[in-house]
Formats: sequence, structure tokens, C-alpha cells
Amino acid sequence: MTSQPITNVSQASKPFYFGVDVGGTGMKIGLVDDAGRTIGFTAIPTEEPKGPKDAMQRVATACSKLLHDLGLDWSAVPRVGLGTPGSQDIPKGLLIAPPNHPHWHNFPIVACLEGELGRPVSFANDANAAAFGEFWVGTGAVYSSMVLLTLGTGVGGGIIVDNQLVVGQNSFGGECGHLIVDSRPDARLCVWGGGRGHLEAYASASAVAARAREELQAGADSSLRDRADQVTSRMIYEAAEKGDPFSLKIIDETADYLAIGITTLVHTLDPGLVVLGGAMNFGGHKSPVGQRFLERIKHSFRERSFAYVAKGTTIDFASLGGDAGYLGAAGIARMDHKKQ
Ligand SMILES: [Zn+2]
Repeated sequence: MTSQPITNVSQASKPFYFGVDVGGTGMKIGLVDDAGRTIGFTAIPTEEPKGPKDAMQRVATACSKLLHDLGLDWSAVPRVGLGTPGSQDIPKGLLIAPPNHPHWHNFPIVACLEGELGRPVSFANDANAAAFGEFWVGTGAVYSSMVLLTLGTGVGGGIIVDNQLVVGQNSFGGECGHLIVDSRPDARLCVWGGGRGHLEAYASASAVAARAREELQAGADSSLRDRADQVTSRMIYEAAEKGDPFSLKIIDETADYLAIGITTLVHTLDPGLVVLGGAMNFGGHKSPVGQRFLERIKHSFRERSFAYVAKGTTIDFASLGGDAGYLGAAGIARMDHKKQ
């Protein structure tokens, strides 16, 4: 479900846009007004093995039902936004090879959804859509440039520069998880493509767990030592909350790797705001461990960057959680509609 407040249709600003966020197990569908407020929401299972055509047919049915339940029809919705995992060809509207959707490869998903809906569809990478959501109505709402890093199973990213979402020549723009943060020949291997030293190989939830596991198996002293084989980033967070020095060290080192990546992003793009989203936030603002994690990133970034740029750069947690994707997809549809 959505954690956004639901705005009553009678108070909403027209026109409205659907934002569709396709995940590995579920698809979130929000009807969003011109001011970025959610007026309706539903979620349906992805059912990946049934393929993308079946999924897009069910998205269309769910959208029509949502409109009907709100006393609306398709005349209220000029455009729909769709975010899916990469890899994609954004200009051609193609899914290429999303790793968690093996039955969806090489599929013209935009043409399919447009055919089902009879409405034009704006297409985006899911992490880029989440970045656009934070930019439009979340932590980034007062900035013209912003970077989002999502810390989950992998490290995703999205970049907005001067109010424009960066898509790039190969629809690969914003893949900040593959920034090089360790150039040594024996640096950790990235799961995708086999490059070494990528940020994702150090700062994703699975990489944090793997780094801890290796040190525990090599004899590091910690309250987690007896559970080294099953250690997760969540267990590291919980042990850190209880003051386990080893877990705090792992979190500090994770912050340092992120700070190296953030320094490169800031020196390239000058985003003004760097937002950290995704499930691995070590409790975020509400936890002393999350606060320490954020402070360590800021400190480590300041040590590496130009002082006046660091002074003008804010680093903070994201505010929209799992809703950023559908909100951003709707926001991209709105932007494209207004360009016409
Ligand atoms: Zn990589």
C-alpha cells in the first residue's frame, strides 16, 4: 500500500496522471494529480512468468477500475508514466534484459501498454523514476539538480540536472552503483558485468553482509561471530544499535565508500542535494545508528571535496520510501505532457 495521504478528487488539481512502478514481485499503480498528490492507489502482483503482455493487460484493467471507483474516466488522464527495471532502450520503449524478469526480455512494453490504454506512455528506468519522484515531491522538491542513490539488494541511482532527468545515449544514465570506488587490482567484483571496485560491490545490502561475513569468518571479534554464515545488513544494524564495535566499523566503512562515490558525483554534476533511498538506511533519522551513518558520509565527503562545493551540498535520507517510483513515473508523464 502507499504511505502517501490520499487527496480527495474534489480537491485535486487536473489533469491527472497514472504512475506505474513495476517491481520483481509487485506493481504499484498510483493516480496522481497535477501537484503530485496521490488521489488513488492500488498494487497488483507482477506474476513475472506470465510475461509482460499479461502484466500490462492487468495494469490497464486496474487503472480503469481505479478511475471508475473514483467516479472518473479516461478523459481525466492525458498520459501515463511507466517505470521498469533495466536494461532498457528508453527512446524505443523496449525492455532489453531486466535480470529479475527473465520472461520479459526484448519486449516492446511501451507500445503494448499504449495499445491497452489508448493513452501515450512515458517510459523510465525504475531508479530514475524514483529519483524524479523525490525531485518532484520528496526531499528534492526545492532543488533544480539532485542525485538519488538507492541502497537495497543493489545500489541504484538517478540524476536530475537543471530540472532534466539524465537518460543518456544508451539509457544507462544515472547508474551510480557502478562508480569505481576502489581501483586496486583485487577490488571486490560487481555482480553485473564483472567489473571490479564498483560502489555496489561495497555498499549494497548484500555487499555489506558479504564484507562482514568475510571478516567474521577470518576471526573478527563481534556479537555476530557465531552467526557469521547468516549475517545480513539488518543483523549488522541491530548489532550496531546494541553497540557492537565491529558492526559500527562495517557501517562506518560503508559510509566512506558511499562518500567516495558521492564526491565523484558532486565534482561532476554539482547536484546540490544527494538523497539516500532504499531499504538499507540503518534506521534513518530515527535511529542513532542511522544518524551516525549519515554524519559519517557527510564528514567523509567533506574531507574529499572542494570546501565551497561541500558547503553548498546537502546529503540526506529520502522521504517517499517505496512510493517514489510511482510518483516519479507520474511526474515524468506530467513533464512530457506539458512539453507537448
Ligand atoms: Zn557494477
